[in-house]
Amino acid sequence: MTTVASDKIPSVLSFKGVGPRIAEKLEKLGIETLHDVLFYLPFRYEDRTRVVAIGMLRPGMSAVVEGIIEYTQIAFTRQGRSRRMLLCHLSDGTGSILLRFFHFNKQQQNRLEKGIRVRCFGDVRFGSASKEMIHPETQVIDGRLSEMEDSLTPVYPSAEGVHQTLLRKITAQAIDYLDEEDCLQELLPDNILDKYQMPLLSSAIRYIHRPPADADQKKLSEGRQRLAFEELLAQHLSLMSVRKQISKCNSFVLKSENDLIDEFIRRLPYHLTNAQLNVIKTIISDLDGSSPMMRLVQGDVGSGKTVVAAVACLKAIQAGYQSALMAPTEILGEQHYQNFISWFEPLGINVVWLSGKTKGKSREQVLNLIESGQATMIIGTHALFQKDVNFKNLAIAVIDEQHRFGVHQRLALREKGMNNIPHQLIMTATPIPRSLAMTAYADLDYSVIDELPSGRKVIKTVIISDDKRPEVIESVRKSSKKGNQIYWVCTLIEESEAIQCQAAEDTAVLLEELLPELKVALVHGRMNANDKQAIMQSFKEGEIDLLVATTVIEVGVDVPNATLMIIENAERLGLAQLHQLRGRVGRGSEASHCLLMYKKPLGKQAKQRLSIMREYNSGFDIAKKDLELRGPGEVLGTRQTGEMEFRIADILRDEYMIDDVKEVATEMLNKHSDRIHLLIRRWLGKSDRYGEVG
Ligand code: ADP
Ligand code: MG
Repeated sequence: MTTVASDKIPSVLSFKGVGPRIAEKLEKLGIETLHDVLFYLPFRYEDRTRVVAIGMLRPGMSAVVEGIIEYTQIAFTRQGRSRRMLLCHLSDGTGSILLRFFHFNKQQQNRLEKGIRVRCFGDVRFGSASKEMIHPETQVIDGRLSEMEDSLTPVYPSAEGVHQTLLRKITAQAIDYLDEEDCLQELLPDNILDKYQMPLLSSAIRYIHRPPADADQKKLSEGRQRLAFEELLAQHLSLMSVRKQISKCNSFVLKSENDLIDEFIRRLPYHLTNAQLNVIKTIISDLDGSSPMMRLVQGDVGSGKTVVAAVACLKAIQAGYQSALMAPTEILGEQHYQNFISWFEPLGINVVWLSGKTKGKSREQVLNLIESGQATMIIGTHALFQKDVNFKNLAIAVIDEQHRFGVHQRLALREKGMNNIPHQLIMTATPIPRSLAMTAYADLDYSVIDELPSGRKVIKTVIISDDKRPEVIESVRKSSKKGNQIYWVCTLIEESEAIQCQAAEDTAVLLEELLPELKVALVHGRMNANDKQAIMQSFKEGEIDLLVATTVIEVGVDVPNATLMIIENAERLGLAQLHQLRGRVGRGSEASHCLLMYKKPLGKQAKQRLSIMREYNSGFDIAKKDLELRGPGEVLGTRQTGEMEFRIADILRDEYMIDDVKEVATEMLNKHSDRIHLLIRRWLGKSDRYGEVG
């Protein structure tokens, strides 16, 4: 095999149908090059290869059916403001199905008249009287036999302005490239492919993007595993080299009396848990040494990671240096800022806040304070990475909720420490088994806060159908009467953010009407940061009773007086995400409740998954049960750990590969070291720093 460096990977701009405008949108999905397209995998498939008899349809299926329209009518919805809809009754001799259109024009109405033969594709559900499809794609069959697809139709994660048709078009083109020799070099040696019985990378990719009509689940799994394996391998190799580099560097020696830390802990209104104290001890001893600390602290939602971070920061500050804490979102950053002010200002420490939204004069001021060293505790978002931010002497950087941050951002921060590398502390709530952490974060040491503060009440979780909405609203009313606050989370997946925000807006209006005595507010991803922050702040201060939100509140928000959370369409979210969301309540000493609302019909799997949420409260248990339910090789479905810097791998789901990944990494280092930088470039290329250290 040759070792051609694939320096020239075609950009998506060379694809048919992709101009600068579309390229920009694709970039938001992480798609810039041919390789990005190839690694952009479908999350499910639609079977448009055959027509299904209407009598055989089951709710939840998406299928092609074909039949004669028996009759068509215009009807009105009953709820609220009545809306016109077009109803077509389709039958094929084996059964009948109702096609329901809320948006239609005269032309469509005329086209879909009695006696016409149509083929449609859509999701089957049980309506009030019969099986139905809402807004199916329809095609009138007029004598000519129209062709069916010959492979399964992939459905890709999409985004605004990037539709399935476009994604299918570009993936089709990318697959054509695969025939060209240098398109995607096989980097795993034959003996390794043989030993682990893995398919070639290119055949795996081809199969996953366009599986045949009779696709084999096992083969699909193997294909996905092949990709995940290579990605984990690349990640492992690059982190190992990062670690090796770092261990040779120096950092700030922060050895000093721990007076400030002692005083800080004394002033806390609670006792630290043993788990917190242990991790603090480890961190302090890391910081007493001269090589850079690179430590990951894992602790379930609510385990109290923030105070631990604060102690680490104090260690640097009391030795005369600066500390920075970075949050993944403005909301969370602002919250940390408030906390740190209340903790640190009494100790005489100057705390500042810097986000992308800090502009003009106040930005200048903050930058000056940072540069002169007058501010010693700096809290911010990604903005802390920007070029114009010059620290005087940054000795420790804390990164909160790691899964929202990329490894390369972690690396970028390193440069802010100038001569010395700042110590780094990374905090995550993602339940990571130790073995996995060693690989996925091979550049980090690992500690865990495996205990919740005492007195925490278990969150009682109830699974409830959304036709019980009136009762749910009654519980909201009661809870608010008791002086508690409520989150109402609107979720929709697979839809654009715009639709999601719209749904939240609608819900807020409805709830305001139904609960006139409550102060209702809304927060969603499309609001500007200031508005978002203002609302979170007034929720925190108790001025808002009911906060309607999209999943923007998923991470870290801390309002102990909020004791009730309602999550709509809970059946459509991953358990990890549900766990994160639910972690917004149960933060005080009062009993908290979480109502998981679902839409009927609830499939068996979905029911089991929601029951896991009802029965377990710990992120570890939930992740474990979830895995058991899904099986490790699962191809489709949401990735549990979301945005953890992987394209394909999921460190929880793919835990079982880790030993093999390590073994292969060793073999690559010994026998095929010439391929290592190619592997790293392929998977982590965008963060060029890997190349430098590698
Ligand atoms: P997370 O680990 O999810 O980031 P936080 O640091 O936000 O958790 O802490 C959650 C809540 O628990 C906060 O209100 C915090 O003040 C409180 N807390 C932290 N440690 C303790 C403790 N040892 N005892 C009681 N409450 C604590
Ligand atoms: Mg937190």
